[in-house]
Order: sequence, then structure tokens, then C-alpha cells
Amino acid sequence: MKIRWFGHSAFEIDADAGTVLLDPWINNLSSSTKPEDIREASVIVVTHDHSDHVGETVPIAKRTGATVCAIPELAAIFRKEGLKVHAPNMGSLTEVQGIKLAFVPAFHTSGTGLPTGAIVKLDEAVIYHMETHQSSQTCLWFETCTNLGSRLCQSEASIPWGPLKPLGRFKL
Ligand SMILES: [Zn+2]
Repeated sequence: MKIRWFGHSAFEIDADAGTVLLDPWINNLSSSTKPEDIREASVIVVTHDHSDHVGETVPIAKRTGATVCAIPELAAIFRKEGLKVHAPNMGSLTEVQGIKLAFVPAFHTSGTGLPTGAIVKLDEAVIYHMETHQSSQTCLWFETCTNLGSRLCQSEASIPWGPLKPLGRFKL
């Protein structure tokens, strides 16, 4: 498994199960990668509707055919753009393209539905993606994450922690 960080909250997880993009704002100042350089994605996870998290979701999904995952209110907007969507509500354990996914609560704001964090399980890794780039704005819902992580096959989680720093890690 390879994980690439593009700055801010944008990640790519390349695994046997598929390639997942998280909050793909690739065209940010920290990134040397251009959105058009992203050639492959099976799933794109968007935690909330702010532009620094939606990023280039629409053009990347149109180019790659990726399924866009977001809570129902936000997914409806992507559906209107003609994208394939997967729209589980908060706390539902779901599977899309062979990748297990659950959205969890987060302290933040959003104009379209609730802001979320996401727990993604692919291959043998369970990854907790916080919804925003500053830990001070984010609530780690340890109980929720622990429960969902256990049900998804308890493992280690990685979290984006700070806009210009690498992943923080902790044990669920
Ligand atoms: Zn935001």
C-alpha cells in the first residue's frame, strides 16, 4: 500500500483493493501534483462541501470514472454533475468498489449536510481520515471510531494532522 499526501487534507491511498482519494484538493499551494496528473481512482471520499475539500472531485471523477462517496445531501450535488455516487449516512458501515467505508461525526461546519470524518478499510488497513486540516477544529470521536474500527477489522489508524506536516498515527 502506498499513501501520497498532496498537502492540506488531500490523500491518495493506492492499495490492492483500489485507489482511494480523500478530499482531493490537489491544486493547492503545497502540492507539486496537478489534478490532471491523477489518472486512476476507484473511489473519492469527500468529507464536506468546503472548496478546500471538494477540490477537483468533479473533473477527476469524470476522467477516472471513480465513485464519489459523501453523505446524502452532498452526494446529491455530485449526482447532478453526472457522477457515480455512494451516499451512506453518518455511522453506516458500507462497502463500495470492495472498499469498506463509514462516515463519522466531526466538529466543523458545512453548507450541505453535516461535516464528517471517514473511516476507510482497504487491504488490511483501517484509516481514519479527519475532516479538516487543523486538529483544533476536529473532534476525534474515539468511542465511535473504536467501535467502527473494531467492526471493520480493528487495526491502526492514520490521520492527517496539520496542513504542512505528515501523518500522525495512533492505535484504535
Ligand atoms: Zn471545512
